[in-house]
Amino acid sequence: MLKSGKATRFPNLVQRDDAVHTFEMQTVTANTIQVVGLELAIAWSDGTESFLPLEFLRRHCACAGCGGEPDVLGNVVRPKNEYTAASFELRSIARVGGYGLQPTWGDGHSTGIYSYLYLKKLDGLHGEAP
Ligand SMILES: [Zn+2]
Repeated sequence: MLKSGKATRFPNLVQRDDAVHTFEMQTVTANTIQVVGLELAIAWSDGTESFLPLEFLRRHCACAGCGGEPDVLGNVVRPKNEYTAASFELRSIARVGGYGLQPTWGDGHSTGIYSYLYLKKLDGLHGEAP
């Protein structure tokens, strides 16, 4: 047990350890991104691959306009989105730092940023879907 004086001597160091730990959980990055047919194929830095259907991806757009935001009670009210065939066509996709991907869709929508963690989570979701 450290004396109280010693325990509080390097508070910043303790916080930095936590930050590093959090950072390490988010270091999976996309090595290769490619559209294959109607799917976005991602080769991850951890050696796994994801194949995400473009329509599925668009319907799970993470931007505030598509995903809705929690109200004061914490309920998420999803707005009714109007999609066209162009909504599910990927016009281009940009990398956002080492953080994620920002697609531009055929209907011009491009405000959704998909973090790598979110993309991995989505991959698990559509794999379990019936
Ligand atoms: Zn959106």
